[in-house]
Amino acid sequence: MKKNQLHILSSIQFSRTRILLTFSFLFFIHQTFSQRLQIGIMRAFTSSSIQFSYGDGIYEFRSDTTVICEMTKTDKITLKRDGTQIRLVKNEISVGSYKQIFIREKKKNSHICMTTTAPTARKQRRYMNDFIVKTEGNESLKIINEVEMENYLSGVIESEGGGGKHLEYYKVQAILSRTYALDHLMKHYKDSFQLCDEVHCQAYLNMMRFTPTIKQAVTETKGVVMISPDFKLADGFFFANCGGQTSESDFVWNVPVPYCKSVRDTFCIHSKQATWTKTIPKNQWQDYLVNYFGYPISDSILGPMIFQFDQPKRTAFFISPHLGIPLRDLREKFKLKSTWFNCSLVNEELVLHGKGFGHGVGLCQEGAMRMAFYGYTAEQILKYYFTGIEFFNYTDWLFLKQKVRDSMEL
Ligand SMILES: [Zn+2]
Ligand SMILES: [Zn+2]
Repeated sequence: MKKNQLHILSSIQFSRTRILLTFSFLFFIHQTFSQRLQIGIMRAFTSSSIQFSYGDGIYEFRSDTTVICEMTKTDKITLKRDGTQIRLVKNEISVGSYKQIFIREKKKNSHICMTTTAPTARKQRRYMNDFIVKTEGNESLKIINEVEMENYLSGVIESEGGGGKHLEYYKVQAILSRTYALDHLMKHYKDSFQLCDEVHCQAYLNMMRFTPTIKQAVTETKGVVMISPDFKLADGFFFANCGGQTSESDFVWNVPVPYCKSVRDTFCIHSKQATWTKTIPKNQWQDYLVNYFGYPISDSILGPMIFQFDQPKRTAFFISPHLGIPLRDLREKFKLKSTWFNCSLVNEELVLHGKGFGHGVGLCQEGAMRMAFYGYTAEQILKYYFTGIEFFNYTDWLFLKQKVRDSMEL
């Protein structure tokens, strides 16, 4: 246990009532943490019909009150929107229509295969554990996957990063994805689930090709979350490649993130995405800077400098902060891979030489992969890119946070 944790604990006086309350609280958080997540899936398209087929294990389809049928190896079950209800068709025979349908695994950690008729969604997906299917809007179905946290994380890691990575890198992803999920459990409360399967919530497009290494990473980090210096669940910002130096957060966003400091990174500089070159017509560059930012083009000193810019280490502004031209705006306007670039005129065209790919704040994915390859642990990798963060078991963190609150109320 770290010094500051001991300090927090030692500063708290336990009374008998308080100890009782503590036990009730521990029981409560254990209950909370052992709950499954509710994830809205197939959210990228409107589906009026979903087909289910065998994956692994027998499933039971239930209405609100009764068991409708079972699905075994050879069965195909289709759920179709039918007015205000959902029609269940088993092996092309209509069984009945229901308000909502619960799909329950009969053996722990089973999975089921599903496809929808939406033209953009022909690919089959496989999801684990249980499901609820409800009506949504005038013609579509809403499907909610009630999934164990560890199975969800395996799906996210596979969807976001694919296979073939080092175990310690997968552990980095597991800690970041778990922290994000637990910090955003209310994100979709208006839709009556917690998170969805789209990128803005963490991609969860389960094909279940995940390797045993992903499962191992999730299991070996079970419950571990990343905590910021101000004792909150930390945002695990990441990007592809920093080019040799990560960015200060306030170079990119208006609100600084105290644990996202600029760090030097030599681990990523030999990978493909570490450098880039782009050519932009001279007039386009000049017109944008003059018309949008009022660049002093007629000034005898500053005028010619519009095409000449050196950036030996990452900065926030083009040439000088006094000109008020944020590099992040140039990146967005000219679709640059990063804000870390030099430029000069070559044959009447502006040539930019840049480093890195992405916003540059937080974890450099290619650097982290290289660190894992060299034998650094997930904790060492995360602490390298996020300054002053700590790791806690989620339930311990909830407990300590409550203790701090209690002590402040005394
Ligand atoms: Zn979402
Ligand atoms: Zn890097």
